[in-house]
Amino acid sequence: MAVVSHYVGGKSFAGSSKRTAPVYDPALGTVSKEVALASAADLDQAVAVANAAFPAWRDLSVAKRQSVMFRFRELLEAKKSELAAIITEEHGKVLSDAMGEIQRGQEVVEFACGLGHLMKGEYSENASTDVDVYSLKQPLGVVGIISPFNFPAMVPMWFFPVALAAGNCVILKPSEKDPSAANWVAELLTEAGLPDGVFNVVHGDKEAVDALLVHPDVQSISFVGSTPIARYVYETGAKAGKRVQALGGAKNHMLVLPDADLDLVADSAVNAGFGSAGERCMAISVVVAVEPIADPLIDAIASKMAGIKVGDGRRACDMGPLVTEVHRDKVASYIEIAEKDGATVVVDGRDVKPDGEPGGFWLGPTLIDRVPTSSKVYQDEIFGPVLSVVRVQSYEEGLELINSGAFGNGTAIFTNDGGAARRFQNEVQVGMIGINVPIPVPVAYFSFGGWKHSLFGDSRAHGEEGFRFFTRTKVVTSRWLDPSHGGLNLGFPQN
Ligand code: NAD
Repeated sequence: MAVVSHYVGGKSFAGSSKRTAPVYDPALGTVSKEVALASAADLDQAVAVANAAFPAWRDLSVAKRQSVMFRFRELLEAKKSELAAIITEEHGKVLSDAMGEIQRGQEVVEFACGLGHLMKGEYSENASTDVDVYSLKQPLGVVGIISPFNFPAMVPMWFFPVALAAGNCVILKPSEKDPSAANWVAELLTEAGLPDGVFNVVHGDKEAVDALLVHPDVQSISFVGSTPIARYVYETGAKAGKRVQALGGAKNHMLVLPDADLDLVADSAVNAGFGSAGERCMAISVVVAVEPIADPLIDAIASKMAGIKVGDGRRACDMGPLVTEVHRDKVASYIEIAEKDGATVVVDGRDVKPDGEPGGFWLGPTLIDRVPTSSKVYQDEIFGPVLSVVRVQSYEEGLELINSGAFGNGTAIFTNDGGAARRFQNEVQVGMIGINVPIPVPVAYFSFGGWKHSLFGDSRAHGEEGFRFFTRTKVVTSRWLDPSHGGLNLGFPQN
C-alpha cells in the first residue's frame, strides 16, 4: 500500500520511524493508503534542514520573496482542481466545497503577496535633536504549523503564506487523517521556486506534535484543532518559551429574530449547518429561534433539507460522508442522546440513502428541535451534520444563552432590524459575527480567530495580525553626528 511520506528539503523524506496510520477514502469506507508517523528524531532532522535554509531565505530581497509567492499563486490558480480531488478523496467533502476551501486559502496567498507593504517598519526623524528612531520587522526563524483534518488546504494556508512571505521557514504537521494535500502544496511551492528546506511537511501524531512543541530551534506554533488539544498545545508551547496561537473548537449559534426573512434564514441554516457535513469550525450547530418564529422556521428548514443529496463527493452531491467511521458513530450517538434527553428529532440522518458505496461513513442531515440546554447535544461540539434548535422568548434570552457558552468562535443574527443587529454586535461575546450572513469567515486582510475556548493566545490568523505574529520588531535609535558636534554627555538625550 502507498505510504504518504514526509517532505523535507525539497523532496520526499522517509524518516526512520516505521510507524504508520491508515488513510481512508470516506466515501468508500476503505483504507486507500498509509501515512508515515514521524518520530522525534525525524522531526529533529526536518527542523535542522529548515534552520539551515533560514539565513538565505531571510536575507532574500522582498522583491524576490514576493515573486515566489506570486508564482505559487499562479500555479495554484491553474492546478487547484488536482488539489480539490485529493481533498475529496481523503476528507470526503464534495468537490465544489473542496474548491471553495482552496479559494479561501488562496486569498491569503494573494494577501501575503503584498508583503512589501506589510513588512514595512516605521521611521521618526529627529525624535531627539539629530536622533532618528525606526523599527524593523524581522522573521522569527523556523515556525511550526499544526493543522486539523477539516480543512487540509485552507487552514495551513491561513498561516504558511504569511510565515513564508515574512521570511520564516516552515514545518507543517498536517492532520494524519488527510495528509496528501500538504505534500501537493509543498511540491507546488518547490515548483514556484521556493528554495529547498524553506517549507517542510512532517506527518505524524502526538509524538511529532510533542517534539515540535519543545524543540529549541522552533520559534512559534500555530495550531488549529479541538479545544482540549489547543489548550495543551498552548500551555506546552508557551512553557517552552514559544510564541503560540492555538485555535480551538466551536459551537456556533444563529439567533433568529421574529422579523427575519424566513426563506433566507432557512437557506442559511441548511447551508451553514450541513455544508461539509457540519465538519467546519464555523458551521452553525444551534439555531436559537425567538418565538413565535420556531414552528414556521423548523418547517422551512426541514423542507429544504429534503432537497439535500448525500453521497460520494466525486458525484453530483451536496454533502459527503464523515471523515472516519469512528467520527460518524460518535456524531450519530448524539441523536440517541437527544432522544433520551427529551428533544424532538425532526429529521433523522441515520435513515439516509446515499448516492455512494454502502461502506462509506454516511450520516444524513439531522434536525433536532427543543434541545434542552442541559443536554450534551447542546453543550458539546458535535462536528457533524446535526442542527439543534433551541426556542427562546426574547432577544435578551437568546443573547444570554450565546454568551454563557464556553466557545466564542462565530455567531450570526438574522433580522431586518438594524438597531437589533447593531446591539447584538456590541453585546455578544464572540470573535466573528455575521449579520444575515451565516458563516462569517473574515476575508484574508482581516484576521480570523474566536474568543474564549476558541482561541488560546492573543494572535489571530492572517491579516496584519498574522504578519505581527510571524515577525519580531526591533527599534533602532540612531545618531549620525555632523562634524561640528561632540563632547561628553552622560545623561539621556532629552530634546
Ligand atoms: P484534533 O484536535 O483532533 O487534531 C488537530 C491536530 O492536533 C492534528 O494535527 C492532530 O494530529 C493533532 N493531535 C491530535 N491529538 C493530539 C494529541 N493528543 N497531542 C498532540 N497533538 C494531537 O482536531 P481535528 O479533529 O483534526 O479537527 C477538528 C477540530 O478542529 C474541531 O474541534 C474544530 O472546531 C477545530 N477547528 C477549529 C478551527 C478554528 O479556527 N477555531 C478551524 C478548524 C477546525
